[in-house]
Amino acid sequence: MRTIEEQGYRFEEWLTPSDIAADVQQVAERISADYKDKEPLFVVVLNGAFVFAADLVRALKDVRCEITFIRVSSYWGMSSTGKLEFIVPLQQVVENRDVIIVEDIVDTGLTIHQLKAHMRAQGALSTRVATMLFKPNKLEYEDAKPDYVGRELTDEFVVGYGLDFDGFVRNLDAIYKVKQ
Ligand code: 5GP
Repeated sequence: MRTIEEQGYRFEEWLTPSDIAADVQQVAERISADYKDKEPLFVVVLNGAFVFAADLVRALKDVRCEITFIRVSSYWGMSSTGKLEFIVPLQQVVENRDVIIVEDIVDTGLTIHQLKAHMRAQGALSTRVATMLFKPNKLEYEDAKPDYVGRELTDEFVVGYGLDFDGFVRNLDAIYKVKQ
């Protein structure tokens, strides 16, 4: 089993490149079946989802699609409602489009909850979510439950395959779990 060290923490390989490839394939097959006669717009959430998205869209079969990117930051102000800040705003019109939001990981679901509300407000026909990883027992927003999931995990911290630790290690070809 491969291990890495980053900023004093040890991480152990959890999903190998071939595990990841099988998970991506499974998600791509489901999306291909569901969107065969549609022209979905993939909205990739930067930065983390770029690696998963690149593999996912290339594994689709017979899906005519468009791909765009967004970068957001969720923060909690003085009020009780979280606000979404658009660091890279949506460049594409989502009105009347079947949108598939692509995430690296869904944790509390806040980001997805807010992005879905934004897509709805912009007139999207439908909004589904594809994520490489999902932490079901951390979910706080029921409407953020992802439609397509590569792999579930509990509440461990993971890095690699797009997921960072303070901006680093996104380029690892496997997904690593922090060692307790
Ligand atoms: P949510 O809005 O669902 O609470 O958070 C989603 C974001 O939290 C992800 O896009 C990711 O940036 C970050 N995140 C949550 N869990 C992890 C994790 O285990 N590892 C890393 N690297 N980021 C995480």
